[in-house]
Formats: sequence, structure tokens, C-alpha cells
Amino acid sequence: MVDTQKFVQTIDELERTLRQLADSGVRGFDCAPGALDTLQAWGRQRSQPQAPESLEAIREDIGDCRRCKLCRSRTRIVYGAGSSRARLMFIGEGPGQDEDRSGEPFVGAAGQLLTRIIAAINLRREDVYITNVVKCRPPENRLPEPDEIATCSPFLRRQIAAIRPVLICLLGGCAAQSLLNTTESISRLRGRFFELQGCRVLPTYHPAYLLRNPEKKRAVWEDVQMLMKEYPYEG
Ligand code: SF4
Repeated sequence: MVDTQKFVQTIDELERTLRQLADSGVRGFDCAPGALDTLQAWGRQRSQPQAPESLEAIREDIGDCRRCKLCRSRTRIVYGAGSSRARLMFIGEGPGQDEDRSGEPFVGAAGQLLTRIIAAINLRREDVYITNVVKCRPPENRLPEPDEIATCSPFLRRQIAAIRPVLICLLGGCAAQSLLNTTESISRLRGRFFELQGCRVLPTYHPAYLLRNPEKKRAVWEDVQMLMKEYPYEG
């Protein structure tokens, strides 16, 4: 792997040496001022941190993706929705039937519950960013399989890098286990913060699970309060 710092140092040294030689009248190689300026600018460009790519560029890269077998069962790719400058990101496991039809994440009954959870944090859906680990609907609403997650999750990681949220809420066991690289159950993972790509990450129950198990509402409310404590409302 190229050591960028060393590379920049070498370019700088080369540029300095050529300039000295040019100043002392040495000829025989290209040390014209234009060539030296190009070398100097090249070194500077390489030394600057690369700007994060945009959500649009990542979506363009996904294209009409056929990289995993989920492409066979989908109607539409569900990329994600919300603010590209969101401070809070919600990540579920994969699109369901309603999402597959509309192309929007979390639009069914579970989506309405998520909208209420977001409102409880005093935010609107357009203030946050919502997406899934896989962008295509698994058939019969099954869980995404490891090979599908492995193929699709680099796009999610790029989305996280593009948005750089302060907080991420992982919805359900699949999202929590795959992103935190653990086999622990969601009931053990929820209620505490983890770290992922420089963000504070809180796993909680998936809204669809909550619809089937309303007794878990208290636990989710506790998690919502933890998010509210950490959310940077000011500034
Ligand atoms: S789930 Fe992801 S990797 Fe698989 S086809 Fe859809 S966009 Fe591509």
C-alpha cells in the first residue's frame, strides 16, 4: 500500500531539488517553472484530506445493481431518504413490500411507528436519514443473508461516511449484529452505545417487532430518551 505522507514528502523533495538545479543553471531535464509548479501542486493536492463523496454519487454507483441475488426479487432499489446533513441516522435491515413498491424506506405500518418515534425526539423525518443494511427486498420478507449483507453493506458504510451523523440508531437484531459484527441478541445489545465510523451507535428493537410485541415499548422509550440526551439540538 502507498504511504501517502511519504509519497508527498518525496514529491516535495524532488520539486525542491529540481528547483535548486534549475536556479543554478543546470539543464538536460525538464525543470521548467511550469513543470515545477505542476509537481508542487500535485504534492499539495495529495496531502489534502479527500472530501467525502456525495449521496448522489453513491446512488449513481449502485445503478441498476445486480451484485447480489436480491436483485431478482426486488421491484425497486430502496436507497434511503432524508437529510444529507442529518445528525441522526436510522438503519433497518431491508425493505418490505410497501418500500419495494414505493422505493422509499419505512413507509408501511412499521414506518408510521418510526415516524412517531422520530416525532418523540422532537424531529421530523426530513431532519434525519433513514436507510437499510440491504437496499433490495428479501423475498417473503425473510432476513437478509450473510452474503447479501456482505455485498450490499459497503454502500451503507459509504452513506454513513457521506452523512457523518453524530448518532446512529440501529433498528432490530439484523442491523445491530451485522454493523457491530456480533452475534449477541438485540435484547442484550439495546440500551447501550457503541462506536461505528466515528459515530455513537444505539441499537433498539425494530418498529415491526414493536408492533407485534407492544410490551417492548417501554424499552424503546428508554432508548429514545438516551438518543435525546445525546442529540445535538443546538448549533
Ligand atoms: S441488495 Fe444491494 S448489493 Fe444486492 S442487488 Fe440490491 S443494491 Fe445490489
